[in-house]
Amino acid sequence: MDPAAALPTPPTTPVKTPSPTTTTTTTKAFVIRPSSTGGMGAYATRALAHNDVILEETPLLVVAERSHLFAALARLSRKRQTKALKLHASDHFKPGTPWLEAVWDTNSFATGVSRETGLFPIAARFNHACEPRDNIHWAYDAARRRLRLWVGAEEGIAEGEELKICYGRTKTPELLYRWYGFRCACGACEGLSDQEVDSFSVKW
Ligand SMILES: [Zn+2]
Repeated sequence: MDPAAALPTPPTTPVKTPSPTTTTTTTKAFVIRPSSTGGMGAYATRALAHNDVILEETPLLVVAERSHLFAALARLSRKRQTKALKLHASDHFKPGTPWLEAVWDTNSFATGVSRETGLFPIAARFNHACEPRDNIHWAYDAARRRLRLWVGAEEGIAEGEELKICYGRTKTPELLYRWYGFRCACGACEGLSDQEVDSFSVKW
């Protein structure tokens, strides 16, 4: 599978992103904690309104080409290397896949700038929901080198609700399962049947 095709990708049609100056956040909008589906997830700590900017994150690491990954990691401080390598990696990669590559393929975001991808450790904790169940939208601001996440749900988000982003409009439940290792149960897609999941396991 072409890694670039599987990574979270920005929407193909330009979306109007709220200006960063609209952020009036005084309390952190969300907390990262274990999610009901296993792994971690982001949850609203208070009621959030449509277009509230909830996160602006600079990349821990950005590479223009995947082949630059190991060299780029080596240039980071030990602290930043540890932070990168502590991220979750899908266990659905071929045995023998280097840990860094598994982490990268599980967590990195396509910035939309050429074939560039980046690692954003906080945004990486957000789980996926297919459209229109994704209540958080995101875009990379190349000029400011920041990944911005904001409330996409027009009705807003209630305190305690899980915040979810869409990993890409072209991501089918099968691709999500094969690549990220989870069965999407967002309610918007049809998900996968047990038979389908079994048939994938047999092929491996
Ligand atoms: Zn889904």
